[in-house]
Amino acid sequence: MSVENVLKTIKDNAIEWVDFRFVDLSGRAHHISLPAKEVDEETFVNGVAFDGSSIPGFRGIEESDMVMMPDPDAAYVDPFTAHPTLNIMCNIYTPDGERYERDPRSIAAKAEEFLQASGVGTTAFFAPESEFFIFDDVRYESTMNSSSFYVDSEEAAWNTNRKEEGGNLGFKVGVKGGYVPVAPVDTQQDIRSEMCRLLEEVGLRVERHHHEVATAGQAEINFRFDTLKKTADNLLVYKYIVHNTARQYGKVATFMPKPLFGDNGSGMHVHQSIFNGDTPLFYEKGAYANLSEMALHYIGGILYHAPALLALTNPSTNSFKRLVPGYEAPVNLVFSKGNRSAAIRIPVAAVTPKGCRIEFRTPDSTANPYLAFSAMLMAGLDGIKRKINPVELGYGPMDKNIYELSDDQKAQIRSVPGTLDEALDALKADYEFLLEGDVFTKEFIDNFIELKRGEAKAVAIRIHPHEYGLYFDC
Ligand code: GLU
Ligand code: MG
Ligand code: MG
Repeated sequence: MSVENVLKTIKDNAIEWVDFRFVDLSGRAHHISLPAKEVDEETFVNGVAFDGSSIPGFRGIEESDMVMMPDPDAAYVDPFTAHPTLNIMCNIYTPDGERYERDPRSIAAKAEEFLQASGVGTTAFFAPESEFFIFDDVRYESTMNSSSFYVDSEEAAWNTNRKEEGGNLGFKVGVKGGYVPVAPVDTQQDIRSEMCRLLEEVGLRVERHHHEVATAGQAEINFRFDTLKKTADNLLVYKYIVHNTARQYGKVATFMPKPLFGDNGSGMHVHQSIFNGDTPLFYEKGAYANLSEMALHYIGGILYHAPALLALTNPSTNSFKRLVPGYEAPVNLVFSKGNRSAAIRIPVAAVTPKGCRIEFRTPDSTANPYLAFSAMLMAGLDGIKRKINPVELGYGPMDKNIYELSDDQKAQIRSVPGTLDEALDALKADYEFLLEGDVFTKEFIDNFIELKRGEAKAVAIRIHPHEYGLYFDC
């Protein structure tokens, strides 16, 4: 949308409030609302001031003044507010008119500029598959008792998910037990359809929705790929719609990677490819999975830098509770054309040359999409620049069932880091590829590591309920 169109939308929809939004380092949106009558062309030139010191990881109170610069391309009418409201995503600037180096959206813009300057291609496309759970909201119904969070047997998880002590004793439809069953086993068809209706209403193009593998109300909605920054914007809109539709239904949605022990977690697989104008650069007919040499090097870059990359694509302590064997979440830093336990899968079913892409399966939705997509692109571009050949490095292709390999063979395969701290250590040792073109700065990386170390420590120093089972009777 142009500024003119935004102002017309405000008029045509009798908008009362314009909600200026920006994103913090964790990927959460924040907002300040202005009366619509106060918003004009000037607002798009001068921006809207806010206090950056109250946002974790942003500026200190001694230099707290910041400016939100609205992006007319990222505006939509909020479907939830009682008073007509237009939401508009902003970039963050310093009072001197510089792009703020810790603004995730500005980093995404710089990553796109770097791709173009690199001469590799014009556009990188991204498509996330962001899974989530829909739970009964404890404020409405107290069915999620605390044992759900640390049950230590699948049987117990199953019973808890059935919301009754002792399991289903008869005359009732069970909760989901297989993959994509129809209603009445799947109870969330309507809520997912409503989420999709609203996503379409605010401008996203929905491709499908379905119940995911986990027993207790896990969902996935896919929307159409787009460019890096636009897809990150779309993901924020997606989460906003999912969270607030669930709320309207008296439910709560969570993108936490592993809310239930003993069941599948929620990933955010990210499909990605590079084009030069209209020409897909990842496709080469007849090669392994029809992948071009450039695509192979991109894979090489992602897998080579993966331990460090995970600090940005899986940046929570909970992320690493998902990355364990047995739940379709990847543990092995290899690529393959079918294997869902590989970190990179190449979709081959019903794929056209333009649709030829790689799917990095490791990320989850605790990632800030602006930072995660930018970091993945930087790793891939480094692979292309340095011609990192993943086959020569032993990163695949791995089309066998990894669980059936001998112990010696398994020992050759690199695994994802086991904890957030390990991923942060890896990032501390391997960040130069992110600094190319000043996309990320060293100062940003140091600050990010410090922020995340704080989270890891806050979790580590707390007493875990499972410790009572292990040690209380010592
Ligand atoms: N939920 C799985 C994960 O944690 C993925 C399931 C799928 O392949 O869609 O990544
Ligand atoms: Mg899925
Ligand atoms: Mg997938």
